Amino acid sequence: MSLVVVGSMAFDALETPFGKTDKIVGGAATYISLSSSYFVKPVNVVSVVGGDFDQDHIQLMHARSISTEGVQVKENEKSFFWSGRYFNDMNSRETLVTELNVLGDFDPIIPDAYQGCEFLMLGNLAPQVQKTVIGRLTQKPKLIVMDTMNFWMDIALEELKETMALVDVLSINDEEARQLSGEYSLVKAAKKIMAMGPKFLIIKKGEHGALLFNEEKVFFAPALPLEEVFDPTGAGDTFAGGFIGYLANSGDISFESMKRAVIHGSAMASFCVEKFGTERLKNLTQEEIDNRVQQFVNLVAFDTVLQ
Ligand code: AMP
Repeated sequence: MSLVVVGSMAFDALETPFGKTDKIVGGAATYISLSSSYFVKPVNVVSVVGGDFDQDHIQLMHARSISTEGVQVKENEKSFFWSGRYFNDMNSRETLVTELNVLGDFDPIIPDAYQGCEFLMLGNLAPQVQKTVIGRLTQKPKLIVMDTMNFWMDIALEELKETMALVDVLSINDEEARQLSGEYSLVKAAKKIMAMGPKFLIIKKGEHGALLFNEEKVFFAPALPLEEVFDPTGAGDTFAGGFIGYLANSGDISFESMKRAVIHGSAMASFCVEKFGTERLKNLTQEEIDNRVQQFVNLVAFDTVLQ
């Protein structure tokens, strides 16, 4: 089934306790498209970059059957730039710089070849742009998943709420769920957020896994306990890519299928954090992915006898 991915394509500069990078390729659409490309082909990306963007990376996307026909290139402008620093526990980070550059006045174009898509992944981007993309699709997708972050809650809350009302699944982290709902309890937060529109809510908790909510139902997926987390950047987007990629591949959007999708998303995220940037997502094998998913199954499977 066809998938359209919208989101930032960026240069990131990262600082972790393990080291520093200078302007490496990142961005929500970059991570989502790479991750989902292991499940569904083609992945159709809508984004915008400046004339400075890395052409080798575009080639890599093409090699993975990711279409960039919907990626506008503004030759005389600069790509979106984000810089962040991780604290020692690697679970929390601070944003040092956000330079919107080409994202500042991004007017998304949906190529004809992308129309009729059944799955739409709204990666992190201005909520107004996410909403515009929904409006420019000639046919309503079977499933719309949206990711966002505190940056947009701080500066564009009303637009964010308007966009949220149009989507089926919202994916955010625990801090963002608390900010959006004003509730500390994630169960209470989930109820309030689902009342704002999305029927399904994913709350990511970094190394503590992810929760999937729908009506009164809740499912928990752990994160894989890893000896070393090298760089968590993009883990949330990689999760989202695995999640929607799995669903688009199966075509099944039931709660049971979403549980499996959460596990596949978590497996993909566990690869992402093993190296800096997108490095680990460039050439995974099906065997590596299958083995990782099996590790998740083993991690949570147990027998018990009720007395
Ligand atoms: P994640 O670690 O999954 O939350 O995503 C990290 C990616 O999000 C980085 O590669 C950044 O380029 C991108 N990013 C950071 N801030 C923003 C923003 N305000 N809008 C869009 N993308 C962003």
